[in-house]
This record gives sequence, structure tokens and C-alpha cells, in this order.
Amino acid sequence: MSFELLTVPCLSDNYAFLAHDADTKATLLVDAPEPEPIISKLKEKNWFLTHVILTHHHWDHVDGLSKLLEYYSPQIIGSSSDTKRLPPIHLPVGENDEIKIGNNVGKVFEVSGHTIGHIAVYFEESKLLFSADSLMALGCGRLFEGTAGQMWHSLQKLSTLPDDTILCSGHEYTETNSNFALTIDPKNQDLLTRHKKIKKLRSEGIPTVPSIMNEEKNTNPFLRPWCKEIRANLDMIEATDEEVFTKIRELKDEY
Ligand code: ZN
Ligand code: FE
Repeated sequence: MSFELLTVPCLSDNYAFLAHDADTKATLLVDAPEPEPIISKLKEKNWFLTHVILTHHHWDHVDGLSKLLEYYSPQIIGSSSDTKRLPPIHLPVGENDEIKIGNNVGKVFEVSGHTIGHIAVYFEESKLLFSADSLMALGCGRLFEGTAGQMWHSLQKLSTLPDDTILCSGHEYTETNSNFALTIDPKNQDLLTRHKKIKKLRSEGIPTVPSIMNEEKNTNPFLRPWCKEIRANLDMIEATDEEVFTKIRELKDEY
């Protein structure tokens, strides 16, 4: 049986995710921004935390863990290349490794860019991709440690996943991302439609995460540096995809 997914808003704009396997009662948490909302969801659902995946070392993804460990003893999973900066990891993982949570098997992607050693995990049966601050709804993470080339390489790997993949990213940044996307891709009808939908959801306080891979492929400028209209708007018709991606990331940083 596939996971039951719960999105848990934390801090001002973070998301943690709980994924529960009813057959085995395994319950996975992806990232631990703050403990209280996570503990209250676990209690509400009567789920017992068995596994935690930490996507990267930033405080807003790991600082809630120590409090959770007062109540639960989950197996903690994180990047083998970043064990020095992450909290103590029981299961270090890297590119293409498999993670078993109950009957669900996840595949690890190494997606450096936002940090070096950021991981994303894809659970095929549930169609869930936990991408945190790599590929995000209408955006991608800022380049704190890696290069634009590394992030572009990371996003290309994730974009090979099926169109119906459910993208569980780490922050509610979608409205600003959408405003920015329209500045470089203003005639994209799918983007215009999505922009309206996002405005409405946010005005009602509803999360825009998770999103669907197909809509990212059609509207997220960071997956579309090949797009002729974007290239024309940036005056970069002859540039490589990586060069256009780099420019889009720079423009977003200044936006
Ligand atoms: Zn981060
Ligand atoms: Fe973050």
C-alpha cells in the first residue's frame, strides 16, 4: 500500500512532511523545522514516528529533531557526504541508494546546489518526491554553497521523473516565485493560469505545496532554460541551457 501523506506547515514558511504506511505502521518524517506542529499531527493521527529523512543541514530543516527524539526513537537518514554538519545519522545515503520505509522503497538523488550534500528522495509507488530546497514549486533553492551548474544538473535529474510525480518541496515561496516567473515568461498560458490559482489559494491561506511535476515542467522557469520565449526575453537565444539557467537564478536573486 502506498503512503498516506500529510503536509505540516512549520515556522513562518517551512513545510515538513509525514508519510505513513498503514500496512506496517511505519511513519516517515521529512525534515524537522520545529517539533510542536509535527508532534501534534502525529498524536492526532495516532502515528508513531519510525524514520526521519533530513534533506540538508540548514537549521530550518533540522532544529526540531532533538525535541522529537525525547518522544520517539526513529532511524535518522541523511546524506553520507554531509554527516559532519547534520545531526547524528543512523543511515548515511548517497546517489541511487534505496531507502526502505515499511513496504515503500525510496530512491536517493544527490541534488547539490542549495547546499553541497542536499538529497532528494523519490518513492515510486506513492509518486512522492521530497525535494526540500532543490526543486521547488515554481522555483529552486538559492545557491548558498553550490554553483548554478550543480543546481542545473540536480534539477535535470529530478525532471526525468514522471509527470504525475507529487513534488513535496520545503517552503511556501510559490507566490513570489510566480510573480518572478511572469517577468521572464509573461505569455506562458499555463503559467498565467497557475499564477491565478496560486493568488487565490494564498489569499485563502491554503498551501500551494505539494505541486505536480507536470505543472513544474510547463511553468517553472528553472526547468525551462531551453524555452525560446524566455531566451528571447533575456536576449540569450544562442546561449547554453546552463548559461540561461544561471542568468535566471541571478535575476531571481535580485528580484
Ligand atoms: Zn535550506
Ligand atoms: Fe529551507
